[in-house]
Amino acid sequence: MLTSLTNANVSFEPTVASIADAGWVDKGVALAYIVAAILFIRALAGLSKHETAQKGNNAGIVGMTIALVATITLALTSGPDRGVLTTALLIAVAMLIGAVIGIWKARNVEMTGMPELIALLHSFVGLAAVLVGFNSYLAPDAEAELLGGFHLGEVYLGVFIGAVTFTGSIVAYLKLSAKIKGAPLMLPGRHWLNLIALIVTIVLMVFFINEGGVSPLNTTLLIVMTVIALVFGVHLVAAIGGGDMPVVVSMLNSYSGWAAAAAGFMLNNDLLIITGALVGSSGAYLSYIMSKAMNRSFISVILGGFGSDGAVTAGDEEQGTHQEIQAGEVAEMLKDAKRVMITPGYGMAVAQAQYPVADLTRRLREAGVEVEFGIHPVAGRLPGHMNVLLAEAKVPYDIVKELDEVNDDFPEVDVVLVIGANDTVNPAAEEPGSPIAGMPVLKVWNAKDVIVFKRSMATGYAGVQNPLFFKENTHMLFGDAKASVDNILGAL
Ligand code: NDP
Repeated sequence: MLTSLTNANVSFEPTVASIADAGWVDKGVALAYIVAAILFIRALAGLSKHETAQKGNNAGIVGMTIALVATITLALTSGPDRGVLTTALLIAVAMLIGAVIGIWKARNVEMTGMPELIALLHSFVGLAAVLVGFNSYLAPDAEAELLGGFHLGEVYLGVFIGAVTFTGSIVAYLKLSAKIKGAPLMLPGRHWLNLIALIVTIVLMVFFINEGGVSPLNTTLLIVMTVIALVFGVHLVAAIGGGDMPVVVSMLNSYSGWAAAAAGFMLNNDLLIITGALVGSSGAYLSYIMSKAMNRSFISVILGGFGSDGAVTAGDEEQGTHQEIQAGEVAEMLKDAKRVMITPGYGMAVAQAQYPVADLTRRLREAGVEVEFGIHPVAGRLPGHMNVLLAEAKVPYDIVKELDEVNDDFPEVDVVLVIGANDTVNPAAEEPGSPIAGMPVLKVWNAKDVIVFKRSMATGYAGVQNPLFFKENTHMLFGDAKASVDNILGAL
């Protein structure tokens, strides 16, 4: 490449055409893409287990580095005929701006802020797919021209998925960061509105492909469809109730993958297609797992809300009197216990209480107490949130159990420590008509004693009061979860 650069004699700046002849570049890039794709698959496989997650992450980093180098090389050798140095400069400036924002955000984000950051990043993928789609429609390359209607179909679908992902993710960001609060948006006839929007989109697509190529009619059709898709994205996510957001988060993750795959088709980039399909299909599978965990039909969640058409029968009003307890008394209870179960939730993440919780676990186990963790699949604000925190604090994996593994064991448990969890241990889920009705919950109330660590009587993410707090065998330990666990450790 360098030789070609120095040999370029036509213009002041060497043109890309002058260095593109080298067939080895294409072959090298193709090889790099295959290696990167394999590494991405290895990354996903590794990330599916605690023990291999670090290796999986490393494979992903190496794969992405290879992919970036190969794609930049490709852009420099076969991009628009504007000159290598200009192209390189534009890429460098864009990467620099992106890297500065990315590093700044990654350093500043709290673990509890990760879900909304991820939702925001998904929206960028959606926006990128929309922009790539419009660019590909307005300035198709020679290959796209040859593909004709097929290319127009790619553009149309890519822009549609991108636009839904873009606004859907922004609404998810606003909901996760509590910038939008309150009941889900339940427009009258909302399923019909969604259906009409989809039918109109399909009809417009037929006209768009039939018209063929760039024309005032087609530009109008594309813009009208984009507006419909943007509104559709807002409506889909705004109709989802608080407790069902986990499914939406993983669903938008999946959409962002398909949006990237669509951009890959438009840009004729095989690796983007593979990567997008990997993210899209794994996100779809995760959404399926989350729906199952929430005992929801995936289809009804993505169609926007379900169940009682938004009727809320359980509010946030208190339902009786609660009993308070002090850290010293909890320490005494724990000394006498034979079996202890810890069910952490979002509050443990907020308080960063996982480290003292790990110390408490170690101390109790050394004293011969059987300690286990019961993890609800949607505890926290991210799939696997609690597992990550506990692994970070070096809690042994083999005592961290899933909901199904422990839910029948509570009658044999002496003390349950509910650390910053609320919706995931709420018996209201067993009452028909409750906004969280049907969601499987950890049946902690079946244990002998339950200690709830939280700062107030406030509700959890779904905004539903928790009858657990008013049960006879429940005691509230008020205060920041980390301070409370530290106090118990001090008293032990
Ligand atoms: P919840 O959000 O239901 O409750 C967390 C509780 O922690 C609150 O009641 C709060 O009470 C308490 N808390 C907050 N900060 C502290 C602190 N510093 N010390 C002690 N307690 C604290 O948590 P769960 O994990 O039980 O449930 C998760 C919810 O989030 C579910 O509704 C789920 O659907 C939803 N969700 C989950 C996602 C996922 O992928 N996992 C994604 C999006 C939403 P107080 O203020 O009184 O202290």
